[in-house]
Parts: sequence; structure tokens; C-alpha cells
Amino acid sequence: MNMNAAFSQFYKRTPEQRLAILAKTLGLSETEQQELQQRADQGDAPLLIENYLTTYQLPEGVAVNFLVNQHEYVVPMVTEEPSVIAAASNGAKQLAQAGGITATVRSRLLTGQVVLSDVRVYASIDDWVALHQNELLEVARQAHPSIVKRGGGPQTIRTRDLGEGFVSIDLTVDVQSAMGANMMNTMLEAIADVIQNKLHHTTLFSILSNAGDQSLATATVSIPVGQLANDFDDAKRVAKRIEQASRIAQLDSMRAVTHNKGIMNGVDAVVLAMGNDWRAIESAAHAFAVTDGQYRGLSQWHLTDNQLTGTLTLPLPIGVVGGATKVLPLVAINQKIAQIKSPEELMMLIVAVGLAQNFAALKALVTSGIQQGHMKMQMRSLAMSVGATAVETPALTQQLMKLSDPNEAQATQLLNQIREKQGE
Ligand code: NDP
Repeated sequence: MNMNAAFSQFYKRTPEQRLAILAKTLGLSETEQQELQQRADQGDAPLLIENYLTTYQLPEGVAVNFLVNQHEYVVPMVTEEPSVIAAASNGAKQLAQAGGITATVRSRLLTGQVVLSDVRVYASIDDWVALHQNELLEVARQAHPSIVKRGGGPQTIRTRDLGEGFVSIDLTVDVQSAMGANMMNTMLEAIADVIQNKLHHTTLFSILSNAGDQSLATATVSIPVGQLANDFDDAKRVAKRIEQASRIAQLDSMRAVTHNKGIMNGVDAVVLAMGNDWRAIESAAHAFAVTDGQYRGLSQWHLTDNQLTGTLTLPLPIGVVGGATKVLPLVAINQKIAQIKSPEELMMLIVAVGLAQNFAALKALVTSGIQQGHMKMQMRSLAMSVGATAVETPALTQQLMKLSDPNEAQATQLLNQIREKQGE
């Protein structure tokens, strides 16, 4: 079969036609076709992406117990991973008991790059940009004047020698409430035109940077050690072990990756619920984790004077307007649930979720172990994966929890037994 011929002009087809082509060429069953069709959106989703087929759904829940800057929050989270929301809520509850999380935003600027290649003398570009910086900033302003009216706009322009004849002209922009990718790219292209016309230097590309290091948010919390267990000596042992676990993530990048993945479990789930670009946040976070050349844990926990203090700083170049925030129907409702009034407030909430998620994970890890807390959720997933219905799942989950290390075959066998009993 010539697959390419079947998919010719695929982008011009309707979702129904695309499904028919897929079904025919790849042998999708009636049930599979219905499954895809039932989830197809009749609204805006087909216009959001190319070659739209259906809408892939993920579960949304809310994490509770968050106290950030003395304000209580309910946090919408979109995730497929069992236990993320339970752990976030549980971590947040313990941090609220300690007086809550304090969060701050250091700055909220976006950076972009116009990159030049084949530069023989870096100083000539640097001097020219320094001399013309006001003109270049004005060009950027004129390229997207509405952001200036909103109180934002281009702030600084400077050059960096990247070596091997490459030079980056870096523009920072106050993007106000947007993530700002598109306005930044428009401004950069306008600057690139000037470079081309006046400096007679061809640019290689112009695009925002996802580094996010000028959009940093920090969350901190200080927990009285006595809160960590009923017995004070036990509590101190737990605090010490959390501190050590956090230290290992500073020393060992193999552990740091897992440490940070746990933080991003919560961060991504909120970013997704808020209609933001989670790939941008992921890239920014991991780049930030390697700032000094070694990949390290993004959070740190220290034990001093019977207080366990945790700090997490994250680059969070998110937006509360623009992008997918207006197109995805649930985002406006999620913003209302979280009662977010500004992008800074959302940044503070996200970093607070990361810290609570990290605390819950570390505490579980150094006490009962991660599996115990996860077990019920894992068993529920196993039950669902072997085809248990919503009615059958609770009973099967209970039975699986009694086994030491249940597998798919055992789950299937138990499910069959449940069904046989029901049929009796
Ligand atoms: P938009 O292109 O939707 O731009 C946001 C727009 O919102 C602004 O241009 C502005 O339009 C309007 N707006 C309304 N109110 C405000 C306000 N208070 N503050 C600021 N703007 C306001 O989205 P973004 O430019 O934010 O780009 C985000 C999208 O870009 C994401 O979907 C992302 O996936 C995508 N993207 C990401 C890239 C990357 O990360 N590397 C690259 C390219 C795209 P106006 O002022 O004209 O009214």
C-alpha cells in the first residue's frame, strides 16, 4: 500500500474524511472509529492545530489546602499521573499548618534573540547596536505598539559574542499579561530588517528565548520540625533526611533529574490547566537547573534551629491572556477557580505547587517510601488497564492491594473472578 498517496492533501480534508482515510489505510475497527469520533470537537479545536482528528482528553482535578502569601487557593491541575493531586494537596496541607508558603516574583520580562552569523569583528556590531539602541528599541515599539499602550514594551537591547562568528542581539520586553512569544517574534523580525538594511548584515534567525531567567518566581516555607512526626526525635530524623535528600540532588545529577521531575509533576499540571505552553516551562526549568554547569535539584531544604526551610525558584514565563488561554474553553473557568488576578499571581501559585509537590515527594521518599502512598492509585490504574469498569474498579483495586506485587495477569484473573461472581 502506498501510504503517502492515501494521505495526499490530508490537511485539506475534514476530520470525518481524515478518520475515514485512517480507518481504511490502517484498519481501524468500527469501535475504534466511534471512539475517535465521539471525542471530536465541534467547536474551535479543529482550528487550533493542523490535521485535526479528535480531542485527546486528560483528567482535570483540583488540589486543595494551598495557603500562599496568606491567601487560600484551590488549584486546577491536569494530569494523567495518579497521586500527583493527592500529593500536592497533602504537601500543601502540611505547609499551610506551618504558616503557609511565601512566594515572590523577581521580574517578568521576556528575552528574544536576533542572531547574526559570519561576523568578523564582534566589536563593530556591539558598537553599532550601542550607538543605535534607542532607534532599535523604537523600531521594536512600532512593530507592536499596542503592548506599549498597555504599559509594557521593549526595555533593553544588548549584544553577546557567541564565538565562531555568531553574535546574538538580545531584546528584553515587558510583555504585561501575555506569554509574549508572538509579539516578541514580530519585534525581533523588525529589528532584523533594520540590521539587514542599515548594517548590511544578514541575520541567521530571530526568535524569543525560552530561557525565562528574567521571569523568576520563588517559593519558600519554614516548617517547625515538631510538625513532621508525633515524636520530636522522629520528627528531627525526618527533617534531617529531607535535608539530605535535597542535598543529594545538588551533588548528583542522576538524582537531580528525578527530584526535578517530581517538582514538574505539579508545575506542568497547573501550567496545562491554565492553557500555557508546558514545553516552554519544561525547557526553561531544566536549563535553569544547569545554570552553573552541573544539573542540580531546583529546590533546596535546610535544617536550622529546628526549622526545616524549603526554597524553590523557577523560571515561569507564563501568560494569563493570549495563546491558547482564550481558545481552550476550560482555561477561563480554571483561572476563576484559582482566582488568579495577574500573571505574577499565577507564577507564585505555580512555584508554590512545585514546592508542595517536592515536599510531599521527599517526605514520602525518606519515610514510608514512595510506593506506599502511590499503591492505591497504582492498583486503580492497573485495574482500569485490564478493562475493569467504573463499577468493578473499586472491588478489583481492593483485591490487588492485598497482593505483594500484582501484575497484569493476576489483575485479569481477579477481574474474571469478579465477573463470574456477578454472573452467578
Ligand atoms: P498571542 O499571540 O495571543 O499574544 C497575546 C496578545 O494578547 C497580545 O498580542 C495582545 O494583543 C493581547 N493582550 C490582551 N490583553 C493583554 C495584556 N493585558 N497584556 C499583554 N497582552 C495582551 O500570544 P503570545 O504572544 O503570548 O504567545 C503565546 C503562544 O505562542 C503560546 O501558545 C506558545 O505556544 C506560542 N509560541 C511559543 C514559542 C516558544 O515558546 N518558543 C514560539 C512561537 C509560538 P494586542 O496588544 O494586540 O491587543
